[in-house]
Amino acid sequence: MKITDVRTAVVEANYDWTFVRVYTDEDITGLGESFVAPGLTAIIGDFKRLLIGEDPRNVDRLFSKMRWAASGAGSMGGIVYNAISGIEAALWDVVGKYYEAPIYRLLGGKYRDRVRIYADCHAGEALEALDALMIARHPGWLPEEAAAAISAEINHPVHGRAFGEAATDEVFTPEMYANRACEVAGMGFTAIKFDLDVPNPHTLDTHSGTLTHAEVKFMVSLAEAVREAVGDTVDVAFDLHWRYNVSDSQRLAYELEPYGLMWLEDPVPPENVEAMCRVTQSTKTPISSGENLYMRYGFREALEKGALDIAAPDFQKTGGLLEARKIADMADAHYVAVAPHCIASPVGTIASAHVAAAVPNFLALEWHGMSVPFWEDMVVGFDGPVIEDGFIRVPEKPGLGVELNEEVARRYARKNEPFFGE
Ligand code: MG
Repeated sequence: MKITDVRTAVVEANYDWTFVRVYTDEDITGLGESFVAPGLTAIIGDFKRLLIGEDPRNVDRLFSKMRWAASGAGSMGGIVYNAISGIEAALWDVVGKYYEAPIYRLLGGKYRDRVRIYADCHAGEALEALDALMIARHPGWLPEEAAAAISAEINHPVHGRAFGEAATDEVFTPEMYANRACEVAGMGFTAIKFDLDVPNPHTLDTHSGTLTHAEVKFMVSLAEAVREAVGDTVDVAFDLHWRYNVSDSQRLAYELEPYGLMWLEDPVPPENVEAMCRVTQSTKTPISSGENLYMRYGFREALEKGALDIAAPDFQKTGGLLEARKIADMADAHYVAVAPHCIASPVGTIASAHVAAAVPNFLALEWHGMSVPFWEDMVVGFDGPVIEDGFIRVPEKPGLGVELNEEVARRYARKNEPFFGE
């Protein structure tokens, strides 16, 4: 069996969903998804030259071949691994179809039939669609009001707007958080996550990494509102997007302790393990991180030093599905649970669910697609809705278990990008 081609297609959703298809000489194709990045499809196109003529069943060796080919350009992590992750996942789809086995079985078999999903929630009305540099754009599917707000932002960019800062003047309140939490819990989710680094009426400086007393109190009031709204039967997490210094992160994590969070995510930047340790070891609030760590090598020191309570690798980015299994196993050896980060379409989310089913120390898998009206429509072959009552039933069909809905993908495809070679 030989690889004959590798092609990509990009769909403009809330993020750019980048699909990879591996073609073979046996009439089997494999589908994977890569995490958005600038220049991503060009990198995947470059890797094609390494893969043509190879046997797609040698997944681990091909992963290694791509890894070391890119070593001069930076083998320790980064965008190259977003590309590798999508290709690797597509190879597993090929292998599963060839051996007529679902991917989870190739990764060791399953611990669970249903994978618990945590819903990433947005409390406000404004919908965002972001390009590879997290700059707002307005694809045609966004409602007109949202598109208008984003157009204003694009035409008159707010000076100094940094990653994650709101594109609109929307003000968040504890009531908005409580209402949204009730709504999403009512959809059957047993775990939800909100951003806590949202526009705060007491903020004096968004660049300093500091928090005023009033800011901390406001953030705590959001957490309190969510906890009161959903009671004790729904798990609640909050994300901070690496925004704060050590001491203010410690202070916030301490103040959040009474609310029994599932986790507090990325209080400090990810590259300083000692700083993460100081935060994590200062508080009873579990600290999670990992969406910007690559491969098991990227997680090793953080796990060894106790910098993480929960590991959150992104399987469309960290190196692929087998690498995801290896990271989960390494976390397990440190008695650390895995809650995969995920902003993917159903293609990447279902691939992640195969891994989540196959590892013992799985906690919950992210779903970041609630604002995308066509999220469920992007695949065919799944029996019923992909996400039902807050869970994904792990597919039993060979390989990934679903195919891309090409008609829908084509409708939302990014212009000036090839659609699987067309
Ligand atoms: Mg995050």
